[in-house]
Amino acid sequence: MEFNLIDRIRRRVTTRDDVVLGIGDDAALLQPPAGRQLVVAADTLNAGIHFPLDTAAADIGWKSLAVNLSDLAAMGAEPAWCTLSLCLPEPDAEWVDGFLDGFLELAGRHHLALVGGDTTRGPLSISVTVIGLVEPGRALRRDAARVGDEVWVSGSLGDAAGALALMEAGAPPAALRERLDRPTPRVELGRELAGCAHAAIDISDGLLADLGHVCHASRVGAEVWLDVLPCSPALADAFEPTRRQELQATGGDDYELCFTAAPEAAAKLAVLATAEVVSITRIGRIVEGGGVRALDAEGRAWRPPHAGHEHFRS
Ligand code: ADP
Ligand code: MG
Repeated sequence: MEFNLIDRIRRRVTTRDDVVLGIGDDAALLQPPAGRQLVVAADTLNAGIHFPLDTAAADIGWKSLAVNLSDLAAMGAEPAWCTLSLCLPEPDAEWVDGFLDGFLELAGRHHLALVGGDTTRGPLSISVTVIGLVEPGRALRRDAARVGDEVWVSGSLGDAAGALALMEAGAPPAALRERLDRPTPRVELGRELAGCAHAAIDISDGLLADLGHVCHASRVGAEVWLDVLPCSPALADAFEPTRRQELQATGGDDYELCFTAAPEAAAKLAVLATAEVVSITRIGRIVEGGGVRALDAEGRAWRPPHAGHEHFRS
């Protein structure tokens, strides 16, 4: 079964000059440019766990690549190549065509070449590995936050978690569902931040949890101001303020970038945010100590009502 499907994939991929040998041999041959470091990340999406079972094939294709590109964005890397391991319950050519529509659309936007993979039978699961490039010393690492840094976040928070929450009661608004199914990896912003920001992480598990990873790795603490967290009009329409704030602070699947930078970088950041399509918002600061403290508008410490955020400490 696999051969036909692989051929279908091979016929649709676009290549790059630095792909010496792509799909079809035992392995791909890639020619990295001199003087750059390789940046490698892998993420798996399992049906029913990482996407709802009713998700369209094209959206699964988009998301399986988007979550990986988001990791490259959070490192400040330029995407170059990827592999795709597909585990399918049955050899469904129509499903694979739909999957590729979303996957290759996003790959094309970032000049990313699909150079290999694996195709097997089993419960629906998609594993992608992405490989990117970065100038030595410029990668945005989790362990690089410094006391006195300001904490920033791109775009808006909580939409994907809002969509999931509303799915229990029926169909969520299209604008929220779109953010769950088709997250936008902030690749261009990540490239601009490399060499300007200190630490960065992409928000997949929720802002407070992911910022907690940065604090842990950097041996610092953070203070986050809940009332300034960026919110989309769709989220504001769908939830009352308390619940909305919880979704923004702890909801997963945002795939926005959270990063820290020296206060002196604020002017430069403002300029690059206007040049990019995505807004950035200052949401807190890095302090001595450890853990993340979320503060409400009155400066009172706030704890998420729902447990399960292991790196959250107030
Ligand atoms: P092997 O037995 O050597 O692993 P496969 O039959 O698994 O070979 O794969 C044949 C070729 O097709 C390889 O170049 C592999 O990288 C590629 N390939 C297999 N599955 C995929 C996929 N889902 N997406 C892209 N390339 C694939
Ligand atoms: Mg194989």
